[in-house]
Amino acid sequence: MSFLSHLECSNCGRHHSANQIQGVCVECGSPLLPRYELEAINRSIDVKALRKRKPTMWRYWEFLPIQSKSNIVSLGEGFTPLIRAERLGRRIGLRNLWIKDESLIPTGTFKARGFSVAVSKAKELGVRSIALPSAGNAAGALAAYGARGGMKVYVFMPVDAPLSNRLESYMCGAHVYLVKGLISQAGEIVAEGSKTRGWFNMATFKEPYRVEGKKTMGLEIAEQFEWTLPDVIVYPTGGGTGLVGMWKAFKELEEMGWVSPEKPRMVSVQAKGCAPIVKAFQEGKERADFWEGASTIAAGLRVPKSLADFLVLRALRESRGHAVAVSDAEILESVNEMAREEGIFPCPEGAATLAGVKSLLNQGLVDPDEKIVLFNTGSGLKYLELFPLDLPILNPREEIDFKRLQ
Ligand SMILES: *Cc1c(COP(=O)(O)O)cnc(C)c1O
Ligand SMILES: [Zn+2]
Repeated sequence: MSFLSHLECSNCGRHHSANQIQGVCVECGSPLLPRYELEAINRSIDVKALRKRKPTMWRYWEFLPIQSKSNIVSLGEGFTPLIRAERLGRRIGLRNLWIKDESLIPTGTFKARGFSVAVSKAKELGVRSIALPSAGNAAGALAAYGARGGMKVYVFMPVDAPLSNRLESYMCGAHVYLVKGLISQAGEIVAEGSKTRGWFNMATFKEPYRVEGKKTMGLEIAEQFEWTLPDVIVYPTGGGTGLVGMWKAFKELEEMGWVSPEKPRMVSVQAKGCAPIVKAFQEGKERADFWEGASTIAAGLRVPKSLADFLVLRALRESRGHAVAVSDAEILESVNEMAREEGIFPCPEGAATLAGVKSLLNQGLVDPDEKIVLFNTGSGLKYLELFPLDLPILNPREEIDFKRLQ
């Protein structure tokens, strides 16, 4: 059923077969990107045919790499709401503000998209045990999709990963290990284990298909805006799969003639305590340096070095976009602001996009009338230990003085 043609190295261009298990480029170690027979897709469907399909990301199966539908491992992910944020926009001075709300997805973050595709493809190629270093949300999503696909799952995350992630991974039957260190050190353990134990390494950009799941966010935005694209997309960037995936989606759609060549400016938001992409962007570099002492409450942004940093930077520059760093204090304030103004309780990474767009507006890098999409990549409910709360307690056995209630 798929129109997948081959895998192409994102750096040296070398082709790899898509019919066998692949990791990174055998020549240069860079990420591999799936390529499709786009003309054949165009001949087989049109935008109208899509409308009748089920509201999950698998409505775009022609753009995804699975050969047989029986191999699809799905929990109903995708086609998340794209919500007009009028009140929030008015408050910060933007007249055409939107939020793509990924908090409604299985496992509560957009990581589900990547693993639905990657686990499906691994299953199709006969993989039985999979492993992953993770800041947290990826571990939970892999554990869920691994369970759904009947696989053995090993996840490794920093000891301070959010409790929700440790718990959901364990509950979904994964072998869960906490690492005294950063995600990069967890990555070294997985790399070693994939040699000695035969685990398939699902680390960000170490396998070719997670990015395809993330690509569906771009396809959805295009379809939800009736095959036009917004002016600006603001995305909280860790490893950068989502940003690279969306940019890939826009290029594929452009090549097929489904959208006009004018594409959105892509914006990476990172935390001031871990901003390797922002630094490299500002310094005009093609690659980012390892960020020493990475620290932020937004666990998904705590990625000191991405294998695809050059792809993120390329997408930012090709799109004439921007990169901006925000503080943890701004992130926390923005969590509350988005929730209060729109009823969307975002994860700190999602809130970072709100803090980021305020900074862009202050710097004159976005215009108040532009159509801007913020990505809320997950639910605030996955980060309950971040928000200390002191609520008034009433005792119904005593008389309540209603005049004194706020
Ligand atoms: C992983 C993660 C990110 C960063 O995603 P990338 O596409 O890898 O840059 C952002 N937000 C949340 C909630 C995440 O879990
Ligand atoms: Zn290569």
